[in-house]
This record gives sequence, C-alpha cells and structure tokens, in this order.
Amino acid sequence: MEERDIATPSRTKEILAKHGFTFKKSLGQNFLTEPNILRKIVETAGVNEETNVIEVGPGIGALTEQLAKHAKQVVAFEIDDRLIPVLADTMRPYPNVKVIHQDVLQADLATTIQTAFDQELPLKVVANLPYYITTPIMMHFLESNVPVQEMVVMMQKEVADRISAQPGTKAYGSLSIAVQYYMEAKLAFIVPKTVFVPQPNVDSAILKLTRRETPAVAVTDEKEFFKLTKSAFQLRRKTLWNNLQNTYGKDDATKAWLQASLEASEIDPKRRGETLSLVEFARLSNEMLARK
Ligand code: SAM
Repeated sequence: MEERDIATPSRTKEILAKHGFTFKKSLGQNFLTEPNILRKIVETAGVNEETNVIEVGPGIGALTEQLAKHAKQVVAFEIDDRLIPVLADTMRPYPNVKVIHQDVLQADLATTIQTAFDQELPLKVVANLPYYITTPIMMHFLESNVPVQEMVVMMQKEVADRISAQPGTKAYGSLSIAVQYYMEAKLAFIVPKTVFVPQPNVDSAILKLTRRETPAVAVTDEKEFFKLTKSAFQLRRKTLWNNLQNTYGKDDATKAWLQASLEASEIDPKRRGETLSLVEFARLSNEMLARK
C-alpha cells in the first residue's frame, strides 16, 4: 500500500510523535497539513522533471515531498538541527532531495546552485517561508543575483499584498518597489490559517514572482534608487518634499538640488511617495544623480 502524504494530518501527527518534535515559534514553524494546497503550489510553480528547485525551510518535508515527486532536483535549507534526522527519515524514498543544514540567510546561494544543479535547467524557489524573516529571505535571493527564474512562495497575506501592490494604494511602499524592480509579482491564491499546525493568527497567500529579463526601470545607480524610494516612504503621511529633506538635508544647497531634480523629472514635491510609479522614482533618482 502506498504511504499517505506527509502533509496529511494523520501522517504529520505520527512523524511528530515518532521524533518527539515540538514546535519552535521563534523559527516560524507552522507546518502545512493539506495535500491539496501543496499540489496547487507545485502546479502554480509549474514544477516538472525539467525543473530544479530550492526550498527554504522544509520542516518535516510536507512540501519537499511534493516537489521531489515532480522536480528533477530539490535542495532544501533547514536551520533547525532537530529536523535534520526527521528529514533523513521522511525523505528516504526521494534520492533527488538534498537537505542543507544551514540558515538560508548565511548561505552562499551562487556556489550552492553551481555545485548542486544542472545549470541548463530552469531554477525555481518554492517555499512556505518562515514568516519572521520573509522579507530578508526574498531580498537575499533577489540581491544575490542568482539565476532564479521564478519564486512561488507562501507568506502572510498582508506581506504578499504589500509586495504585489500598485501605486496609489495603501499597501504600496518601498518593499513593493524593491521586489517589483526585479520581478513581476502576482498574488496566486489565499491559504486559510486553518490548514497549518500550529495555526497562525493570520491567513497566508501564495505569491508568484517571475524574474524580468531586465529590471523594471533603468536607473543610473541601484543603491541611490533604493535609498530614494525608502526615503519617500519614511513617513507615509508626509509629502515627498518633507521626506526627501529629512534624508538628504535641509540646507539651501540641498534644497536647490532637490527642487531642480524634482522639476526636471516633472514631479510635484507636494505629492506623497505612495503616488509615484517605479518609472517616476527612476526618473527622479537619475535626475538627482545627474545634478550631484
Ligand atoms: N515547509 C514546511 C511546511 O510547509 O510544512 C515548513 C514551513 S515552516 C513555515 C518554516 C520552516 O523554516 C521551519 O521548518 C523552520 O525551522 C525553517 N526556518 C526558519 N528559519 C530558517 C532559516 N533562517 N533558514 C532555513 N530554514 C529556516
């Protein structure tokens, strides 16, 4: 008889009991116990035998198992040493899974990718992320400039809303810009909190991010561009003019520089950061640099 999926509530319970595992809230441990949702995640990610996958935080292997069944190769980073023997046990039937016992934020992703995978095949990140470090993990993958074609990741719905938000909405902010600069972001579906053990306080969402061939906008200096976008959202109720002065300075020379740059990019200083599109932020950043 075929073994039940790890994600079935009964099998999860057995695995936890067998290994005497107790959840650590500080590591964002909320395990999925609904095989249908896992199948939907794998489907959304378009994982097949021609795809390599990186997973962050395999837990006891609920999602890893579904990925292993469809992907060519799976590499999973798990920080919790108590889960390493559990995964050795649950992943025994899947030789195409490699578990790396490491904090993913400390991982040298480029080297791992080069050594673990066939470079010809597309690489995707598929994960139910630990919620306490969702943003740092996303930024680690985006900024390390590794060849990840797509990310299909579960996170708190509120964070998924912020990442995929459009200008002029309440959720739009520097995080939307930081991610959308590199990737096209789409909210795929909502996952109710009831399918996790232990149950978190909020609902989750699956976000599908597809890497753009080139960044969304052309900027002279990425660091300066991100400094500007962060500055514009420093105090959301303040105007762009107020926030920019707080970051760059209030002396006459700086004010003249900011004013000239805003004028050249045709942006009214009385607007709020949340009304500016990526294109407008890029224009302003480039004009500021040109006048420095
Ligand atoms: N993938 C499993 C599932 O869907 O049931 C577990 C997901 S659980 C939300 C997050 C997992 O990430 C936990 O297993 C936790 O131990 C692990 N984790 C937390 N911080 C991590 C880090 N910095 N690096 C790697 N794994 C981490």
